[in-house]
Amino acid sequence: MDNILEVKHLKKYFNASGGQLHAVDDVSFTIERGKTLGVVGESGCGKSTLGRTIIHLYEPTSGEISFDGKDITKLNRTEVKNLREDIQMIFQDPFASLNPRMSVGQLIAEPLLIYHKLKGRDLDRKVAQLMDTVGLARRLSNSYPHELDGGRCQRIGVARALALNPKFIVCDEPVSSLDVSIQAQVINLMQDLQEEFGLTYMFITHNMAVVRHMSDTIMVMYLGMMVEFADSEEMFHHRLHPYTQALLSAVPIPVVQEKKERKLIKGEITSPIEPPDECRFAKRCPYAKDICFAKTPEAEEVLPGHFVACHRARELNGL
Ligand code: SF4
Repeated sequence: MDNILEVKHLKKYFNASGGQLHAVDDVSFTIERGKTLGVVGESGCGKSTLGRTIIHLYEPTSGEISFDGKDITKLNRTEVKNLREDIQMIFQDPFASLNPRMSVGQLIAEPLLIYHKLKGRDLDRKVAQLMDTVGLARRLSNSYPHELDGGRCQRIGVARALALNPKFIVCDEPVSSLDVSIQAQVINLMQDLQEEFGLTYMFITHNMAVVRHMSDTIMVMYLGMMVEFADSEEMFHHRLHPYTQALLSAVPIPVVQEKKERKLIKGEITSPIEPPDECRFAKRCPYAKDICFAKTPEAEEVLPGHFVACHRARELNGL
């Protein structure tokens, strides 16, 4: 398998009052070149921190990140700058992520000026080409973000991300702040661009319907840890972790003959600050037993390519 990204035992801790906040805790996964990994979980599960750590907006606490065959775990400032040519990010809030004092043309030109030192006609040509690629009318070149709707602003974000011809894009909730009608346009655009340029995406979202539509593989996170990882269709047909079952039960998915029973997640949420050595979901899990409070479950491959971190996954699913 041609994996563009390999992450092993990645941790990102932050100092907090009362100890260290385990935002990302021992997460391992791979992404195949040209494919999309969907990363899902409730807010605060560490999915955005994971994306930001991979692209070095945050320095990893420990673990390994390998990109395109190169170890990128520890980088100096120049190396981080060089990494931006290959790895880009699209942010959740298109308005907040764009400088309001810059016009559309200037915003798209900025990475080309900084990294490729393009000027004059070459720069104008490339900006126009990028606007065409993401479906922004060239007449908007002198407009400012506040004059545009969310969908157009996100297209600027996509154009900026594409400007340096990256191989991999971390998409952090790229459509969640947009109107539903515009969400589909941006998602379709991103899928077309993936096909055209062979891009690999890490698609972070809490929207399960979107993640199913976009993803080849899915990783479910809970309180900083990966609890389940599988191919997208496999995940939707065999949800093996009690948290995934509850998360997916809240989404209306048109599966014939599937009995819809919404499982509410109740109970106290474990603190991510110096969490105890136990299953992070134990206080909310209806299947918790003594073993669940005795040690943290490790991810195991319980079906081919299907990893679950639950002491009772095999027993509960008859495997
Ligand atoms: Fe529930 Fe135990 Fe599995 Fe955790 S390890 S999800 S508490 S059954």
